[in-house]
Amino acid sequence: MSLDRLRRDGEVFMEEISREYYLAYSGQKQSPELQPVYAKHAAILGDESFELAREAFVAAPENSEERRSARALLDWQVESQSSRQLAAQDEREIEWEGTAVVNVGDARQLQYQAVAIELANERDAGARHAIEAARDKLVTAELAPLRRERFQRERDIVEKLGLGDYVETFELLSGVSLVDLAAACQGFLRDTDDMWREVLPEFSRRVLGMAPSELTRADAAALFRARSFDASFPAARMEESIRRQVREMGIDPLAGGRIVLDTGEREGKRSRAFCSSVRVPDEVYLVMRPHGGQTDWMTFLHELGHALHFAYMQPDLAFEYRWLGDNSITEGYAMLFDHRMQDSGWLARYTELSATNLPAFIRTIGFEELHFLRRYCAKLVYELELYGGATRWESLPDVYVERLTAATSFRYGRADAFVDVDPRFYAARYLRAWQLQALINETLVDRYDVDWWRNPRAGPWICSALFGEGQRELAHEQAERIAGKELSFGPLLRAVERMLG
Ligand SMILES: [Zn+2]
Repeated sequence: MSLDRLRRDGEVFMEEISREYYLAYSGQKQSPELQPVYAKHAAILGDESFELAREAFVAAPENSEERRSARALLDWQVESQSSRQLAAQDEREIEWEGTAVVNVGDARQLQYQAVAIELANERDAGARHAIEAARDKLVTAELAPLRRERFQRERDIVEKLGLGDYVETFELLSGVSLVDLAAACQGFLRDTDDMWREVLPEFSRRVLGMAPSELTRADAAALFRARSFDASFPAARMEESIRRQVREMGIDPLAGGRIVLDTGEREGKRSRAFCSSVRVPDEVYLVMRPHGGQTDWMTFLHELGHALHFAYMQPDLAFEYRWLGDNSITEGYAMLFDHRMQDSGWLARYTELSATNLPAFIRTIGFEELHFLRRYCAKLVYELELYGGATRWESLPDVYVERLTAATSFRYGRADAFVDVDPRFYAARYLRAWQLQALINETLVDRYDVDWWRNPRAGPWICSALFGEGQRELAHEQAERIAGKELSFGPLLRAVERMLG
């Protein structure tokens, strides 16, 4: 076993496992066949390969390129240790999600996957709450126990590796201080409390005809569906308009055929959009199931940011920088694209919004941004408790409800305490990506002006200075390199204040 073999065989393994996930989540296969892939590649997923990566990491001098590379490989080996041992469980869970049916009353059956779409489009609060209650009952009985067991086992597997407890291991391999980030999240929640309390009643009354005290999480989906702007975001124009914008900034939106768009309806397709890089940079899928309206545009922009990142990576970049590393980087590019939905110039040029409804739309999108930031801050604080080990598993559902309800004002249910969790602190990747995209945008404005997104010189720079590098850098290193600044919530807070002002 050698590091070169780990890279070479690791890439084949990642391609095969990604293809299984892509086929299952896009509805082309009922359940991914993960276990045969793990069995085939057992040699690079076992104790020996983990030890090799650990020794390389320990032996490399701090701040060296070897250390950077070994950190990415070791992080991947740690994740592989649990995903290999939990493969059977993951297959069951994915199959469940693809086939489960929610019984709403006697007469109505919904695919579990379609619940989010139904809730967003259901206009009657009573009907939404009935769907939510039926879904929560099913989740509590079937999915929640599977997920809880998975988190418990994952924590045990990681802690047995001897790198520290779960949180310490994550911090060591991600270069992120979760404790500092969670403190910043608490600060952001405090700083925006008054703003949130002021703005929520206005929206809940006007859009849903409900008082904030009546709201549950089911109403959030309908509230953010923001139907009044549908005519400005026609489904038929979405792909064409956004592809035009990408061309205008000097990038081929399909990357010479390396990106495949899968945006049609298909039974079993997940409602949550995703981008799957099956071969990097040569075979990238953008998969989504449109619901209608502005949310689709935002989702498409987000996933296209990922797709372009994967498809424009330098092909000769080492395996670990194309496939592994800090996902705050790829999420940062996805958010750089989806935040064009907050950019008046972009909206005026590529959507059907007019001078009369643009200000109202910006205010709505500012409200939505504040909600999602507060939700993710609360999630990270909660997930630190989930993985931290100080709170008993039995108490976590109550902690979850308390944290998420306090931050968002929507009443959350206990059913989701182990379901609405981004595994392996992915919420931290999102939060840092949110902070990073604000700095990338500032840099692009400095270099290419406020309408950088239609400057034909901006795209080539993004491809070479950002996308081409894969995920070699950590998010805070990239912020330092391109903007000379530290990641923080400051620019996000100012943007929200401006939009709601
Ligand atoms: Zn993403």
